[in-house]
Amino acid sequence: MSKILMSHGAGGDKMRQMLENFILPKLKSDIGDVPLSALDDSGIIDDIVFTIDGHTVTPLFFPGGDIGSLAVAGTINDIAVMGARPVALALSLVIEEGLEEEVLERVMDSISQASQKAGVPIMAGDTKVVEKGAADKIIVTTAGIGVRSDLLDTNIKILKEICHTHIRWLRDSNVQAGDKIIVSGNVGDHGIAVLSCREGYGFESDIQSDVCALNHMIEKALAVGGIVAMKDPTRGGLANTLNEFAEKSGVGIEIDEALIPLDPGVKTASGLLGIDPLEIGNEGKAVIAVAPEKADEVLACLRATEEGKNASIIGQATADIKGVVMTTAIGGRRVVEPPVGDPVPRIC
Ligand code: MG
Repeated sequence: MSKILMSHGAGGDKMRQMLENFILPKLKSDIGDVPLSALDDSGIIDDIVFTIDGHTVTPLFFPGGDIGSLAVAGTINDIAVMGARPVALALSLVIEEGLEEEVLERVMDSISQASQKAGVPIMAGDTKVVEKGAADKIIVTTAGIGVRSDLLDTNIKILKEICHTHIRWLRDSNVQAGDKIIVSGNVGDHGIAVLSCREGYGFESDIQSDVCALNHMIEKALAVGGIVAMKDPTRGGLANTLNEFAEKSGVGIEIDEALIPLDPGVKTASGLLGIDPLEIGNEGKAVIAVAPEKADEVLACLRATEEGKNASIIGQATADIKGVVMTTAIGGRRVVEPPVGDPVPRIC
């Protein structure tokens, strides 16, 4: 009998197959303005933006963050990238018997700080304890709701004026040929930071996770206007995000390797480990498709923020190709496939 494998949880093609074969057919997945079947970052019904994310990272604490800050940022970002304003979170804790009280306290301190910094309160919660072995230390799940904001309407109004595009939310399927693709900063930091503190990997680095709520940065970018689509490149990394844009929007995307912001330490560590930094999950980045007329302005706005200081225009959507194609640093061209497995499992 076939069984679920780790690769089914990797955010790539195998995960998509599992969702399509076992999960979505059992659910009424076509309800709402952005239905479940769209597999966007959030679902939207009656202008309420709704999402949920479970977190099972190991180890619980890593350079630059921990499971608590991750759980808060992950859900806030999934709401913010739709163009919505996150307003409230719910928190579920599944705690394994034997967890040190001090660990729970540290996780809760981190959740509290991250939620205050983002300005999104936790309004509901549930806590369960399971017997030893029934969970790995602690599983933290956050759900969140967001609402339509004036800034999204401003963004859309500007978009209409410059290219007559009619959109209502920043869906993955909105990208059109000519749109510029911006990544808001260095890719791969989170996965490498988590790996660097796992036993057995035998490498040391000073890479910090990028885990961070992006709602404030995104609001500033929306005020500039011209943004058509946005996504946080978490599991599956930049490679998966770009392929989702391309497939759902029916466009090709061409990117330039030399323009992708990458910390030299992440580049070295990825090379040593034989993994592609484009496939590593990020927890504080946004990939943004912008009408070409506004791309430089949005880029400047992002670069003026702490979260987006390394933002870069890495390429554009095009009708000339299918899928995602990258011009490599040495001048070749290669297809960027959606990752099949996860090079770094359990980082979120
Ligand atoms: Mg997401």
